[in-house]
Amino acid sequence: MNYQYWHRKVEIMPRPELEVFQLERLQALVDYALRTSFYAPKLRAAGIKGSDDIKSLDDLKRIPFTTKHDLREGFPYGFLSIPKEEVIRLHASSGTTGAPTTIYFNRDDITRWTGYVARSIYGTGCNHTDVFQNMISYGLFTGGMGFHAGGEEIGMLVIPSGSGNTTRQVRLMQDFGTTVVHATPSFLLHVESIMRAEGVSRDSIKLKRAFAGAEPYSEDTRRRIEELLQIDVYNSYGLSEMNGPGVAFECQCKNGLHLWEDGYIAEIINPDTLEPVPDGETGELVMTILCRETTPILRYRTRDLTGFYTEPCPCGRTHRRLRRITGRSDDMLIVNGVNIFPSQIEEVIMAMKDVGNNYLIEIEKDGVMDKLTVKTEIGPDIFMDDSRPLNALKERIRKTIQASITINPRVELHESGSLPVSEGKAKRVYDKRPR
Ligand code: ADP
Ligand code: ZN
Repeated sequence: MNYQYWHRKVEIMPRPELEVFQLERLQALVDYALRTSFYAPKLRAAGIKGSDDIKSLDDLKRIPFTTKHDLREGFPYGFLSIPKEEVIRLHASSGTTGAPTTIYFNRDDITRWTGYVARSIYGTGCNHTDVFQNMISYGLFTGGMGFHAGGEEIGMLVIPSGSGNTTRQVRLMQDFGTTVVHATPSFLLHVESIMRAEGVSRDSIKLKRAFAGAEPYSEDTRRRIEELLQIDVYNSYGLSEMNGPGVAFECQCKNGLHLWEDGYIAEIINPDTLEPVPDGETGELVMTILCRETTPILRYRTRDLTGFYTEPCPCGRTHRRLRRITGRSDDMLIVNGVNIFPSQIEEVIMAMKDVGNNYLIEIEKDGVMDKLTVKTEIGPDIFMDDSRPLNALKERIRKTIQASITINPRVELHESGSLPVSEGKAKRVYDKRPR
């Protein structure tokens, strides 16, 4: 394959050189952090009074972890390292798990961030001839403006279509010959359902690629989107605390997400002991941002569960690859004492024939026991009024889920397109148990 690199020199930089670069950035960043009201006392208490006290990358470990709770405590300006007058933009996290947190940018921060997004997009094989429709919410959420700027940087025609309004999205694709889209995986599946329901032929659109992210999804969901829409889907990972998109992205090999190590330092820890896990094992991703001066965030506990692949990527990039993020440590559900992750359910049902594009999970109390219900849409070739195949399908889903998570779920089948679709991140779990 002919791999293309946007920032060739840094993307294939030998690791020893990359680490020297990281150390220089970390030293600079510590000086910025010392100017924030949150980090100043914490760094001093750890014996770090200036960049001279950071002599190697190992010194990072002297700095305590930062949590989401800390970011909320520091709201609104506890993490700001420069005078407010020099800030040119703010963004906020989408607040999936509580109150949102805010991050600030100066002009250089925005330029650097745009560079990482451009590098990510270009690495999937796009160029200036592409037409890029950004089907994600603009505004405080970083996925809108972040991807928009990255797309413009490499010279693509960018259509800021925003999220939702599926029929119009399809129309835009037809009118302007969209070749690339960015969306959540759940929205991509929804677009396919609507195209099918409205009789839009695949030939009437020119789509080749999609960047899918902002929420966890399984390899089977990727395959499903790729087969249904006949496109290549690339996994995109980011979080607003670390700028947003452009943190880790798949290259043309689609075998894990290159984490841009000239902009970020990643650690994987055991969330219980807080010790690093052995190389290659799964744990919680902890991140330090090296590419933003205005809101330094050091050793941030993302709660996202993943690990590094240990072998190098055939594309030649030296930046390590993260495995698909299966969810957050706080997504875990305890159902009748058994720990399960919603991603385990998704993995089995999205791989099944005759299951449609949307599903949700409901948990209720039934006396003293928890009752788990999985509601899924049915595929287009199954009919709601034909009870024999429906019952067989239901039974097949029930058994497959039980084999995977040991819990025996109740299964409900719904017509294609009838389960709720969110405009942003999909809401899949409805835990109705009293707290
Ligand atoms: P919030 O934390 O409120 O959801 P963000 O918009 O910053 O706000 O979302 C970042 C989070 O979204 C990540 O920490 C991760 O949990 C999830 N996420 C983003 N991209 C992916 C992806 N490709 N795979 C799995 N999860 C993802
Ligand atoms: Zn690669």
